[in-house]
Amino acid sequence: MAEKMIVIDTSKCTACRGCQTACKQWNNLSAVVTENHGSYENPPDLSYSTYTRILFNEVEKDGGLSWFFGQDRCMHCSDAGCMKACPVPGAITRDSNGAVVINQDVCTGCKYCVFGCPFDIPRFDRGNAEGAGVDKAFKCTMCFDRQSMGMEPACTKTCPTGALSFTRSSGLPAVKAMARQKGLSVYDGGALNTHVVFLLEDKPSVYGLPDKPALPAATYLRSVLKPLGVVLFLAGVFAAIAHFVAIGPGETDEEGGDSDV
Ligand code: SF4
Ligand code: SF4
Repeated sequence: MAEKMIVIDTSKCTACRGCQTACKQWNNLSAVVTENHGSYENPPDLSYSTYTRILFNEVEKDGGLSWFFGQDRCMHCSDAGCMKACPVPGAITRDSNGAVVINQDVCTGCKYCVFGCPFDIPRFDRGNAEGAGVDKAFKCTMCFDRQSMGMEPACTKTCPTGALSFTRSSGLPAVKAMARQKGLSVYDGGALNTHVVFLLEDKPSVYGLPDKPALPAATYLRSVLKPLGVVLFLAGVFAAIAHFVAIGPGETDEEGGDSDV
């Protein structure tokens, strides 16, 4: 399957939250009981049952107040910090379309992915009322299950204004050209090369996005420590074999001491 991307043209978003609702409906995610915290944002955060939400950024501009609607959602990075941080083989995988997917059957709930994500996306389920999915990490799957059946993600299918669209990643140059014509900047995570691309009217931080996203240092440390651990393990095995060949097996005397040292 060709790699795909979700393009979010923020200049077209009206914050109707149809995408939020469609995501919950398709993924069978429960509603969250919320309180009014003085913001239209609802729910107040991502969770095991909220994979995407609209951000209401109210900004002073040209002597007045303006809304800049952003989205909190997995960016499906090509260089994914969550995958680099995860120590469990098969817990986070990449689909052939580019989607980064957490497999809750394999996830051990160690939360390394939570700390490895530069966009603060995976949420750890501390146990939910339904008693399902306890102690696992959750996030958007880019509807890889819908895609496997030839359908686009629920959010892009639903958006009534055309703010969300789903297309081949190879179409990025055309998207950039279109954005230039409209005076919008393109945000694709820089070196992280994300499969979710924002078209912005202002700088990323206005929309709640990091201006210069980068992998947390811990993910680099882990990518160094992991091969180092393998090298040290092999060195230990080699040393044991060398000792066996040079000196032979140790023998234990009748009093329990080691006879050859
Ligand atoms: S945004 Fe975070 S959770 Fe999503 S792929 Fe990138 S690193 Fe992983
Ligand atoms: S469905 Fe489209 S217009 Fe409505 S909130 Fe989502 S992106 Fe914005």
